[in-house]
Amino acid sequence: MNVIGQINESFFAESGFDVNQIRAEFPILSTQVNGKPLVYLDNGASSQKPVAVIEAMDAYWRETNANVHRGVHYLSQKATREFDASREKVRAFLGAKHSHEIIFTAGCTASINLVAESWGRSNLKAGDEILISTMEHHSNIVPWQLIAQRVGATVLPIPISDAGEIDLDAYRGMLSERTKMVAIIHVSNSLGTINPVKEIIQMAHAAGAKVLVDGAQAGPHIRINVQDLNADFYTLSCHKMYAPTGIGVLYGKETLLNEMPPYQGGGDMIHTVSFEKTTYAPLPYKFEAGTPNIAGVIGLGSTIDYLAALGSRFENREVADISEALDAAFRTLEAREKELTDYGMQVLGDIDGVRLTGTAPNKVGILAFTLDCAHPHDVGTVLDNIGIAVRTGHHCCMPLMKRLGVPATTRASLAMYNTHEEIDELVVGIKKVKELFG
Ligand code: PLP
Repeated sequence: MNVIGQINESFFAESGFDVNQIRAEFPILSTQVNGKPLVYLDNGASSQKPVAVIEAMDAYWRETNANVHRGVHYLSQKATREFDASREKVRAFLGAKHSHEIIFTAGCTASINLVAESWGRSNLKAGDEILISTMEHHSNIVPWQLIAQRVGATVLPIPISDAGEIDLDAYRGMLSERTKMVAIIHVSNSLGTINPVKEIIQMAHAAGAKVLVDGAQAGPHIRINVQDLNADFYTLSCHKMYAPTGIGVLYGKETLLNEMPPYQGGGDMIHTVSFEKTTYAPLPYKFEAGTPNIAGVIGLGSTIDYLAALGSRFENREVADISEALDAAFRTLEAREKELTDYGMQVLGDIDGVRLTGTAPNKVGILAFTLDCAHPHDVGTVLDNIGIAVRTGHHCCMPLMKRLGVPATTRASLAMYNTHEEIDELVVGIKKVKELFG
């Protein structure tokens, strides 16, 4: 369950959470930048990796490397076992019913394109409507525009409030028998807002539409359960959740995935091939053409093991069941992040000339702002000089920037290893920018 908004101080004090211990597990955090200790606040773009994941990747290359699902030899069998075990771990991470509902892709972008193309090609026609929100990442806008242009459907944006929340009344009014797909971001990468996706899904289903949830920014921050949400499709960007780059996840309901045509053709996705007729492999292989990112998948599995081990550590007891261990991990991580986010919003909001963007009460650790005296790129450059990594720009959300009336923002995005002291450093950095540009 998502505990953000229900923090209980005594629960937190009693947990085995120790930020210094966690920091020590992420080797890159000891980097010096321009003679200063690195303050890494660009986790929304990509998070750092714990030593357990780095070592699992290293061990893969040294001890396991071979192609999967093909060889009868020792290494191929070993690689296949570890690869398949990762799929089961992702199933537990997402609370999916079946591991064959988990498709490995190159990233969240690839997952959304797969659905837009494969599901869209067989389910959308002229006159249909696809609803997205104004706060979507370009990855959840452009694939829908591409398929809509091809079939003559329309992509319509659901409006948001000034605080950065979806206007549910407007959404209700937009739903109709023309609505075939609602593609919605679970957690906004630019604002931090946690959208009420369960309610959004219920409303879409009542109108007969399917729902794809872009979970790129939810994966690292909140416990997800696709069955509880009743999502038709759910996507993850694994490099943002402490796993390697080049690996993403698509969850889809078994019935929907079975009905969809293959997205890409090639090896591994077929049952039989002849010049007369080709038949396709069952799920999940139908959607995994070619050699997959084996090292990335195994690295992802080790990330989920790491998160589950945190659950045991936080509970001060061995939690054997992986789902239960992940519940325990996220209970503490969400509570910690809520506290850090509230602190960050308060101290940044107290600086004269800072305008916070994304002030919804239910949000994760995205601290985004504009400064009246300096462009975000100048803010980012000054901060980099003192070792602070933030993201500046439109964050792949140009329509959202237009809605907010700004060309760009500065975004500090938190992860489990960030501290109050690092947020204080950010405040010092912003004050320095004000001295230089004010
Ligand atoms: N969706 C959101 C909300 C994101 O923040 C991002 C990356 O920034 C993506 C999709 C794209 O993810 P990937 O890098 O895995 O393609």
